[in-house]
Amino acid sequence: MATSKEVLGPTNSLRPGRPLDQDQLDSLRLDCQDQSPQEINYLCQLTAITHDALLQYYGKYIPCPKTHQEIFDRFIFAHPPVYRAFFDHWISSKITKTTTTHLEPGSKGLMRAFDVPEGHLVIGYIPDVWKELDEAKKIELTRSSGGIKKAKHFVYYLEAVFQIAHETVHLYQDHQALPLWFLECAAYFYTDKIIAKKKWASLKIPSCELPIKFYDFLITKHGAAVHQLCFGSPVTRKKTKKILSEMTPGIQALIFPTMRTEKK
Ligand SMILES: [Zn+2]
Repeated sequence: MATSKEVLGPTNSLRPGRPLDQDQLDSLRLDCQDQSPQEINYLCQLTAITHDALLQYYGKYIPCPKTHQEIFDRFIFAHPPVYRAFFDHWISSKITKTTTTHLEPGSKGLMRAFDVPEGHLVIGYIPDVWKELDEAKKIELTRSSGGIKKAKHFVYYLEAVFQIAHETVHLYQDHQALPLWFLECAAYFYTDKIIAKKKWASLKIPSCELPIKFYDFLITKHGAAVHQLCFGSPVTRKKTKKILSEMTPGIQALIFPTMRTEKK
């Protein structure tokens, strides 16, 4: 397993303000990623299926669609200690007085997407959700899946699809132009829609419900312009202002109670 010192190697050579090129990403991947080729291949397939669904359902709002491989190449699936080291040594250096977060204070999160000027990549891990399930749920899933091994795999699959879909949406967004609340509501909304349309089961995360509802409200009120704004299709300044003005401090405190600037 790579150590935090090793993680520092390639990242030290990164220049701010541009996406990482393929060599830099591969170098970072060598340091951070220690899953088996089979695991990586499986995650690659899930990324392709998820991205394919996003393009199928919302592709008409995406002016510059990427290939499945282009999306997968931006992902670095690190193991938790490596991700945390990456967070301490690289992510922390990217945080400015205007960077916002909705993570609980002290939390490093699981996965984080960076916009083009910050390297244009996603780094993180698929959490072990199985161990967080209560015993009754484990028993139910084991019975319905036909064994504990299959049940564990099923839960891993659901969580991986959820994480990959969410971060894939982030890879299409302009993080500099849009506020974090909009980026997050959108990522939760499209993930939820992809899971529902593909008839994939959902692990139902309560904290996602309000962001999804609010984004749904924006679409009901402002129509396709909301999708266009999310994925970078042209939207007039007036319309953009109208959409973004729907979020008031009161609603934000309700939907994202921990949303704040990251650096004081
Ligand atoms: Zn997100």
